[in-house]
Amino acid sequence: MIWTNWARNVSVTPVRQEQPGSADELSDAIRRAVKDGHTVRVVGGGHSFAPAAATEGVQLSLDRFNALHRVERDPDTGHALVTVGAGMRLHHLNQVLAERGLAMQNLGDIDRQSIAGAISTGTHGTGARFGGLATRVRALTVVGPDGEVTRCGPTENHDLFEASRLGLGTTGVLSTVTVEAVPAFDLRAVEDVQPLERVLEELDHLVTGSDHFEFFWFPTARKVQTLTHTRLESRADPGGPVGVGRRVRRAAAAARSFIDDELLSNVALELANRTATTFPAVTPTLNSFAAQALRPRTYTAASHEVLCNPRRVRFRETEYAVPRAVVVDVLREIDAWLRSTGENVPFPLEIRFAPAEDVWLSPAYGRDTAYVAVQQYWRLPHARYFAAAEQIFTAVGGRPHWGKLHTRDVDYLADQYRRLPDFQRVRDTADPDGVFANPYTRRVLGG
Ligand SMILES: Cc1cc2nc3c(=O)[nH]c(=O)nc-3n(C[C@H](O)[C@H](O)[C@H](O)COP(=O)(O)OP(=O)(O)OC[C@H]3O[C@@H](n4cnc5c(N)ncnc54)[C@H](O)[C@@H]3O)c2cc1C
Repeated sequence: MIWTNWARNVSVTPVRQEQPGSADELSDAIRRAVKDGHTVRVVGGGHSFAPAAATEGVQLSLDRFNALHRVERDPDTGHALVTVGAGMRLHHLNQVLAERGLAMQNLGDIDRQSIAGAISTGTHGTGARFGGLATRVRALTVVGPDGEVTRCGPTENHDLFEASRLGLGTTGVLSTVTVEAVPAFDLRAVEDVQPLERVLEELDHLVTGSDHFEFFWFPTARKVQTLTHTRLESRADPGGPVGVGRRVRRAAAAARSFIDDELLSNVALELANRTATTFPAVTPTLNSFAAQALRPRTYTAASHEVLCNPRRVRFRETEYAVPRAVVVDVLREIDAWLRSTGENVPFPLEIRFAPAEDVWLSPAYGRDTAYVAVQQYWRLPHARYFAAAEQIFTAVGGRPHWGKLHTRDVDYLADQYRRLPDFQRVRDTADPDGVFANPYTRRVLGG
């Protein structure tokens, strides 16, 4: 069976595909693969643009590892620790948490990924004080090449924990993930259209003066769509009985999100991109129209409903983490390149922010970060655009998102990640024969 990722840029034929349903079946599947001389890769939701999950060996899906195992309190902090099967999709996790009056502290744009896949590539949202998903992991169970299960956390097998909470699955198969959740909360979302220049000039204030700030920028347009999300008090009645008022509000919210998220964001974007593909000359007009046509709106909803949205228009993406202090220069350079070449790009850039993190291989490791996502409609060529953007990113020490397209290798990344040697030491101990490696992991992580 051919396996293809969401973006349809990676296709491989694994020697076999297996979907174990229990810890014993998982250990068995790994042992059998090793005995037969095959490598092993796990696929989560298949939402990486990079060939991170690709394998011509044995492909494991942990879709059946999707149960809630337990909710407990951290004895020291009192925070909720939630342990789930590593294959649980984020939308399922969000629902499980909401039913218990809990939520993830921060999330990315979509909720189709598995929790293990999301943390393994450094999936992040936006917010100067709110790190990526891997920063919320408090424990993992890792199954090694011999099928043995090891628990790890900050105080138990610490190094394995550090290397496994963001390690592209190269230290072993994650079978459970424990995340620290926060009390459920609402977000007040303010979506606006603002002049690009004003946003760039006031960027520091916009980023640090709000909980979650990001913006979308259609290439060469002089206006951008800004999203500012403010965290509100914990939700009053998590999972409680649904009254008439709440049902009416939910129906209104559903109608609003159908119009804004489906018709305006997805249907109109697809239409504009198809038009730009056939008639490239209209792209600049379409882009500046798209920037103005977005309707300013303000609404309040549960955090995961605000943060995660359907992305139905297929695209390709490279994304780099750059020091926050240089992001305005980086954006100006990308703008200059797009203007001088007239490259046909009807898809917006997305600019997000993160605090310095301590996860060994986090692209935000040790520095306040801006993530610049450069996206292209899947039917249009992206290579020249992405290569130009990469040159701009790497000139400022940018670090590529591990799950997105890029051309960096371990030599470049060794200069960017101080803890890479520690990571390699742990990985080589956990998986000395490279059972969990593939060509992509060898390129970016060595070994
Ligand atoms: C439309 C779209 C929107 C996106 N939005 C964002 C965003 O807002 N922010 C962001 O940072 N990224 C975003 N991404 C990227 C995405 O979050 C990452 O690529 C993520 O890894 C995908 O998760 P997945 O479950 O699909 O993992 P996969 O792509 O299937 O796998 C990713 C990696 O995790 C490994 N893996 C998966 N499960 C396990 C396991 N149980 N044990 C060990 N290793 C495992 C795989 O082997 C692979 O190396 C987006 C991608 C798309 C297509």
